[in-house]
Amino acid sequence: MQENAGGKLSSLGEFGLIDRIRSRFQTPSGVVGIGDDCAVLPQREGRDTLVSTDMLVEGTHFLSGDIAPYDLGWKSAAVNLSDIAAMGGRPTATFLSLALPARLDAGWVEQFMDGYADVSGRFGAALLGGDTTASPDRICINVAVLGECPSGTARLRSHARSTDLVCVTSPLGDSAAGLRAILEGVERDADVRKLIERHYRPTPRIDEGLELASNLCVHAMTDISDGIGSDLEHILEASGSVAEIDVDAIPLSAGLQRVCKRFGWDPLELAVCGGEDYELLFTCSRQAEMVLTTPHFVIGRILPDRPGQGPRIRWRGDASTFAGRLGEARGFDHFKKG
Ligand code: ADP
Ligand code: MG
Repeated sequence: MQENAGGKLSSLGEFGLIDRIRSRFQTPSGVVGIGDDCAVLPQREGRDTLVSTDMLVEGTHFLSGDIAPYDLGWKSAAVNLSDIAAMGGRPTATFLSLALPARLDAGWVEQFMDGYADVSGRFGAALLGGDTTASPDRICINVAVLGECPSGTARLRSHARSTDLVCVTSPLGDSAAGLRAILEGVERDADVRKLIERHYRPTPRIDEGLELASNLCVHAMTDISDGIGSDLEHILEASGSVAEIDVDAIPLSAGLQRVCKRFGWDPLELAVCGGEDYELLFTCSRQAEMVLTTPHFVIGRILPDRPGQGPRIRWRGDASTFAGRLGEARGFDHFKKG
């Protein structure tokens, strides 16, 4: 690392830290490395291999007192498979590494594996290896996932084009509301249970990603892990673009709206900054949008030019709601507070 590279991680932020790590290696030519949902490694015979890895740490990503081991197993595999979906690829295999405290019993691991196997099996990903070790205190789970796609067809974050439409595959914010319900210990009626299920058992949008990637006019794609405020920014930065988002067009489920009304939560804040939806966020040409068969919602567009400096996301909407403060909106950063 750089000399004099002191300072706390909280001031560097998650992405500042990743930038420093990234600066230590050069990505070989023809390979997509750090900075997208997956690395893309060209293979012989017209295929590209996709690789990604994600870690879940007890106390940071989940509270073991609340999440059932089945759901934890499901979510560990699902969030990784989601990164393959984000490239428009097909998953092939996963590797699972577990650091487990001795307080857990074998039944816990069985249930964890039931959830892991159910979602992996649904999308055709075999478990091919991993590592198992004891942990003094917290559960730590790391999954690596492999996938594939025809050469050169992976949908990168850098592929957004001027005048593209910006779309998402489903209403947003349910998962973040589910997390808030868990943290605030609110009563779990049918609506709240549904939101919590969206948080604990996200569906990786593999089929949607494959279908979208079969259309040449679908350009940039990512999955929504940190909230569109942050994930759209990644697409815009990688593509050198600016987007205008119509706040009133951001889709919100009826259940989310009912629960937010009851508890006085702001559904837009949850939809924009909350994250963990694991839906797809993509850009496509106007002509493509009219013929897309994949269910989706248009939330904005890529502007023709980069008009000077200023925020990359221009939020358009009613200033009396959360929209008025959206200029500051960001998704989740693991090292920053507030
Ligand atoms: P995602 O939300 O899609 O999982 P992240 O925001 O976690 O992606 O990571 C952004 C990019 O940085 C990815 O390309 C990821 O592979 C890379 N990355 C994150 N942490 C590290 C690390 N410790 N070493 C190398 N690359 C990393
Ligand atoms: Mg991702």
